[in-house]
Amino acid sequence: MTRILVSNDDGINSPGLLHLKQALDGVGEVTVIAPDREWTASGHAKTMHKPLRISQVELPDGSRAYVSSGAPSDCIALAVLGFLPQLPDLVVSGINFGPNVGHDITYSSTLAAAFEGTVSGIPSLAASLDTYENADFTYAAQFVAYLANEVLCHGLPRNVLLNVNVPSVPAGEIEGVEITRLGRRLYRDKLVKRQDPRGREYYWIGGDWPTGFAEDEGTDIWALARDRVSITPIHLDMTDEGFIEELRGWDLSKQVSSARSESHG
Ligand code: MN
Repeated sequence: MTRILVSNDDGINSPGLLHLKQALDGVGEVTVIAPDREWTASGHAKTMHKPLRISQVELPDGSRAYVSSGAPSDCIALAVLGFLPQLPDLVVSGINFGPNVGHDITYSSTLAAAFEGTVSGIPSLAASLDTYENADFTYAAQFVAYLANEVLCHGLPRNVLLNVNVPSVPAGEIEGVEITRLGRRLYRDKLVKRQDPRGREYYWIGGDWPTGFAEDEGTDIWALARDRVSITPIHLDMTDEGFIEELRGWDLSKQVSSARSESHG
């Protein structure tokens, strides 16, 4: 029996989670362990300084699920470290409310849950729907279930996960599937400075939703702008091989030599 572990970063009550779970029911035996609240843009967390609770809950369709007080990545860690009697064959995180493209992946806790699966050696997918409003997860869930089945058949290379973004259009208007690279995000963050009731200043990071460079052909942002499903293979090794030699040329060990001679002198 194929075992699939499902989590997300929008919390246990997200409709994206329920749609995903129900679609994956057709692929294998699904266990849901999701956070008890929203963790959007909380990155890859590991809760080490306080206890984590897990409780059993019922999803709106009456099926059993688990809810955890930890981050999405904690949910996967809990499951893999022994909360589940057997390791899952696949981890699927999502379906996120809002795209995770370009630089988003370093902020995204949807990705973080999938990273945690990858770190544990389990093939993992992160799935997101390209809209911030009026989300209909039906088609996205259908596609992710199809892809999950493909991943189970083909496997994934070690340390590689798939980041899937589905356009927010009806199934009949999807223009295809593109295997993409990460695009360039354009954040529109603005710092809002206000005063609290006691006269102390506080800051709020606000601004409009991010956009991106939709003309960069072959990127995730480019694909979504053309109503195509985007699948980006992401490698956990973020080393910039091309910069290694130049950085060596900075000869930073000079600092070590001079600090040594100072301490000896
Ligand atoms: Mn989210």
